[in-house]
Amino acid sequence: MIQIKNLHKHFGDLHVLKGINLDVQKGEVLSVIGSSGSGKSTLLYCLNGLESIGDGSVIVDGENVHGKKTDINKLRQKLGMVFQQWNSFPHLTTLENVALAPKLVKGKSKQEAKAIAEQQLRHVGLGDKLSVYPNSLSGGQQQRLAIARALAMEPEYMLFDEATSALDPEKVGEVLDTMRLLAEEGMTMICVTHEMSFAREVSDRVAYFHEGIMAEIGTAQQIFEQPQSDLTKKFLAHVR
Ligand code: ADP
Ligand code: MG
Repeated sequence: MIQIKNLHKHFGDLHVLKGINLDVQKGEVLSVIGSSGSGKSTLLYCLNGLESIGDGSVIVDGENVHGKKTDINKLRQKLGMVFQQWNSFPHLTTLENVALAPKLVKGKSKQEAKAIAEQQLRHVGLGDKLSVYPNSLSGGQQQRLAIARALAMEPEYMLFDEATSALDPEKVGEVLDTMRLLAEEGMTMICVTHEMSFAREVSDRVAYFHEGIMAEIGTAQQIFEQPQSDLTKKFLAHVR
């Protein structure tokens, strides 16, 4: 599980995360919602050690992400990440793109890495695109390629940072469907998202972030049907 305790993050004078306390259980799907600039992306980067932290701690499966003795490259393999956009390697086929990290980072043989890549490309519905180059894929297909690439590292957790925000509206659904499939398969997921219907239907819990504070957290039903915080109510009134 992921345990975030009293997490503080500053960028210079800017206090971006102001004491976040949050546990994410194995198999749980958590959606993180909130206005732009509220610290959602920073939270994800602190989780996988891409950002240093001030006070507090982030513990993943008992290991301190920011501990001096932690092998962060090893720990990070547990945490797959999908960004708004990922620049794949244009001179490699989709299969080669997905096989790269298992080979280079995990030391899999060429054959093993290809088998894993093929399996994960099929998993995200790109089984018929193994030998094409990323530039010939649509935006939605490229995001599914990014998901396959993360899954090929056999992560314990998947972190999504607005995975559908850069897509044309008609491509959003196919990526959300892939995320929904992973959720149904029991993957532990933290999804920063603006897709309220996804948050509502797929998440076990929803956290609302406001100016570096987790203003409210609850089941999807609690947050969307009976929000307690006025901040949450105001936000939801705007996005609905
Ligand atoms: P969100 O993802 O909720 O939109 P972010 O976590 O990206 O918010 O950003 C939170 C705040 O931290 C914003 O005010 C943003 O400008 C600032 N910020 C984010 N990354 C950096 C950085 N690397 N250096 C300085 N300020 C940053
Ligand atoms: Mg962000």
